[in-house]
Amino acid sequence: MQTKILIIGACGQIGTELTSKLRATYGVENVIASDIRKLENDVVNNGIFEVVNALDYNQIEQLIEKYHITDVYLMAALLSATAEKNPAFAWDLNMNSLFHVLNLAKAGKIKKIFWPSSIAVFGPTTPRENTPQYTIMEPSTVYGISKQTGERWAEYYHKQYGVDIRSIRYPGLISWSTEAGGGTTDYAVDIYHKAITDGKFTSFLSENSALPMMYMDDAIKATISIMQADAEEIKIRSSYNLSGMSFTPKELAAEITKHYPDFTITYEPDFRQKIADSWPASIDDSAARKDWGWKNDFNIENMTVDMFKNLKATIYK
Ligand code: NAD
Repeated sequence: MQTKILIIGACGQIGTELTSKLRATYGVENVIASDIRKLENDVVNNGIFEVVNALDYNQIEQLIEKYHITDVYLMAALLSATAEKNPAFAWDLNMNSLFHVLNLAKAGKIKKIFWPSSIAVFGPTTPRENTPQYTIMEPSTVYGISKQTGERWAEYYHKQYGVDIRSIRYPGLISWSTEAGGGTTDYAVDIYHKAITDGKFTSFLSENSALPMMYMDDAIKATISIMQADAEEIKIRSSYNLSGMSFTPKELAAEITKHYPDFTITYEPDFRQKIADSWPASIDDSAARKDWGWKNDFNIENMTVDMFKNLKATIYK
């Protein structure tokens, strides 16, 4: 059966790059991008695009029927920093969009779901270093609570109704082609832009705030490879820990100085510091490596080389 994909939230930081990779992998005619916003970008202009509200079950169902969709990638959500400013709406969007897709799969209308979780499912009582797959999870942000609850429902729908849902706990994601979407790790994207344009950067996290991070290329590779894995290989139906690298703002600044020796950084922690303090510093992703062969390609060094190469060849040429 031909794989026909619907991406919901395709105009976001991850969706933009995921759409382009899925179109290249499955063919432009087999990938339907959708978002509540219709932007002037490649997602909208280089293939099939539909405006959809992830909170509207009927709209999603209509698209699934219209395009004979088999796989849904649900990327629409309110992210950590934005969610703290609007908890009730974040809960509504993050939970009900997931329920819609889970119920469509339960009703047999789609075959497979990808839904991302986050390191935000962990909390201040979780062991911070090399955080295990199974451990204490007491998230202290509305975003983390929504992701942890989502994980529980994902596993429940799999066990009770046989829904084939696959999920990854993304760490902070770094990409050159799209803006960050309101998360606590956004500084690690902005810093590269400011290194080129201003030669200096003010970090909203303190210098020694270590967080798990990943280059977007690795995140997209993981997303597509967990979806392509045989169902028996996916032993965890809540969400897999996934790790690329871990660094502090100070370490990232030192890496940037190798390319821009005059670059300087100052620190002015804001409300996001508290969120960062409640998250792991590094992640144990051995289950993903064992079960479906996960392996990252990027570390802080080759990521930094690639970021500057691409930013200078495109946005700042
Ligand atoms: P983003 O904010 O950049 O993109 C989300 C997209 O969803 C936006 O284009 C937005 O317009 C769209 N959207 C919002 N409400 C919608 C609605 N009602 N209907 C349809 N579309 C709607 O987010 P992202 O960084 O691309 O994240 C995608 C997913 O990955 C989210 O579930 C997020 O929680 C998760 N995640 C992201 C990161 C990260 O560092 N970016 C880390 C962990 C988990």
